[in-house]
Amino acid sequence: MIRFENVSVTYDDTEAPSLHGVDLTVPEGELCLLVGPSGVGKSTLLGTVSGLVPHFTGGTLHGRVTVAGRDTRTHKPRELADVVGTVGQDPLAHFVTDTVEDELAYGMESLGVPPHTMRRRVEETLDLLGLAGLRDRPIATLSGGQQQRVAIGSVLTTHPAVLVLDEPTSALDPGAAEEVLAVLQRLVHDLGTTVLMAEHRLERVVQYADRVILLPGPGEAPVMGEPAEVMAVSPVHPPVVGLGRLAGWSPVPLSVRDARRRAAPLRERLAPLAPPAAQEAREAREAPEGAPRRAGFLRRA
Ligand code: ADP
Ligand code: MG
Repeated sequence: MIRFENVSVTYDDTEAPSLHGVDLTVPEGELCLLVGPSGVGKSTLLGTVSGLVPHFTGGTLHGRVTVAGRDTRTHKPRELADVVGTVGQDPLAHFVTDTVEDELAYGMESLGVPPHTMRRRVEETLDLLGLAGLRDRPIATLSGGQQQRVAIGSVLTTHPAVLVLDEPTSALDPGAAEEVLAVLQRLVHDLGTTVLMAEHRLERVVQYADRVILLPGPGEAPVMGEPAEVMAVSPVHPPVVGLGRLAGWSPVPLSVRDARRRAAPLRERLAPLAPPAAQEAREAREAPEGAPRRAGFLRRA
């Protein structure tokens, strides 16, 4: 669905490419997570898909990026709007109108979609994203999660096959992030949308990914694979992956639930090595009824 052929990007006034050696295909209908340390080229890679790089950013793109067969260098972002929807970190930066319904209609107006089709698609999108109750609301009065859902909705009305999101949950609280991720999952599972998303709050998203692309360092070629496979070697990873790596688990856990299911044997292995405080607590628990307990508060008494 998204094909990168030997892609590199060099911005003006810089010597070294900011993105280099990208040669891979993001399969259709998958949620693909793009990860890597800050400044490694994640936004640049996403920009080559939406056409923002190099059309708006300047710089030189070598190689070729095609989305649903369309070359993003020879098509302007506007000419890609019906195949790629793009959403950034800050939904407010995205909005052009004042109310939810107007915002959903806006993208289609600029593409010249006929009014009756437009009305139908606005209704579909309001339902799909759980926004029907908010249709008349001024966007400024919505919560962060609701705003981000409107931003996603506003690029969905043109029925793009691909959705590109640059850190869509980074500015949100955990509850709002869940809302947005639930919507993205629904798009992938129910509509077969291909989602390519960069996110640095990995603990929120990695368990939902079908595939992970890792940019290990600036200008280094990406590594693509199954989430657990890539997380096992990634310099950026959520704490739960760090725990799994420390414990020598393979595959590494991707969620706290995964880790909990794997933890029983580890607990047994660690029991004899328990730190003194835990040891005392256990002895206190195991002491026969009536026997003097060694818990701290009794010693002090
Ligand atoms: P990430 O999203 O992983 O943090 P970026 O793609 O934003 O990384 O940036 C990669 C590199 O390209 C950085 O060194 C950044 O300074 C540089 N860069 C990004 N955008 C531009 C631009 N428009 N012009 C010049 N340099 C840029
Ligand atoms: Mg970025």
